[in-house]
Amino acid sequence: MREYHTQSLPRYEGEPKKSLLSVVTPAYNEADNLPLLYERLSQVLDSLTLDWEWIIVDDHSADDTFAAIADLAKQDSRVHGIRFSRNFGSHTAMTCGLHYAQGDCAVIMAADLQDPPETLPDLLTEWQRGAQIVWAVRRRRVGEKASKAGFAQLYYFLMRHVVGMKQMPATGADFFLVDRRVMEALRYFGESNVSIMALITWMGFRQAYIAYDRRVRPHGRSGWSLEKKLKLVLDSLTSFSYLPIRLMSYIGFIVALLGFIYAGFVVVNAIFGHPTPGWSSLMVVVLVLGGMQMLMMGGLGEYLWRALDESRRRPRYIVEATTNIPGDQTYNSLHI
Ligand code: UDP
Ligand code: MG
Repeated sequence: MREYHTQSLPRYEGEPKKSLLSVVTPAYNEADNLPLLYERLSQVLDSLTLDWEWIIVDDHSADDTFAAIADLAKQDSRVHGIRFSRNFGSHTAMTCGLHYAQGDCAVIMAADLQDPPETLPDLLTEWQRGAQIVWAVRRRRVGEKASKAGFAQLYYFLMRHVVGMKQMPATGADFFLVDRRVMEALRYFGESNVSIMALITWMGFRQAYIAYDRRVRPHGRSGWSLEKKLKLVLDSLTSFSYLPIRLMSYIGFIVALLGFIYAGFVVVNAIFGHPTPGWSSLMVVVLVLGGMQMLMMGGLGEYLWRALDESRRRPRYIVEATTNIPGDQTYNSLHI
């Protein structure tokens, strides 16, 4: 049994029946957006009858994100900050935020105001009606470059129709609410190379959907490089699907069959005095087969590397500093 993170934030003393909502935000170079988000978020949440906390995980930003979090935490004790020792990626930042969250439910929300805080009451209504996972589904992908929207469409198509996660919203799953039970379940997963949204979809529970319109970023730009996106696609496929490996076997079988048929054709031609001119056809076969073999070895390597990486059991994240989190949790986090 692995050791799990159990350090907890103090529960707020409020009216006994009020629920506690944890808002979890991964932040990478978002110093200018966080104060704006705080204003909007606190305005919406203070108008509801619940207690709330905001956990911001700074994914080793190069700007003043952590100083901005510290300022907010000084201003409002419901704001808590954690800074990673390096850039671990937003999915790991969300996982870390959920480990620290103490709420009866938690909402994952980006720092860039693309997911409007005004949507929170709708998410909470579905939760109060009994849903344990509530996805905020974008009506459309507005204001995005065609290449980005196309990539996202392809990714969610693969997840829904190839991996078979039909419950994932087709337009993107970045903004969602999870019940305490889902947060507890998440503690038992130790995987590093995985999409947290896919993991949560895979868990099952009672899932519900609400619709919202995604806005444009006021400051900064997207932290998702092409390299990070490709890693996410491969992580999502290898974590939940065995299909690529099966395809390799099928393709291997079909190519071998074609090879045998072609060999028969060459032999028959030779017997009847029309030997097949060799050079070009030989090159075609060698190149096609060589390329396919390398592709398949690469595919196997993706699975193999992930198996090796998970077996190292390195911590999924390392905390460099915290703000407004009781005790120094830097070393506790190493055991997660
Ligand atoms: N983010 C992060 N680490 C990264 C990249 C992004 O924590 O390496 C955060 C980012 O600050 C934002 C959220 O993840 O709060 C969503 O990222 P972004 O807005 O860049 O993604 P997009 O909107 O382009 O999908
Ligand atoms: Mg964004």
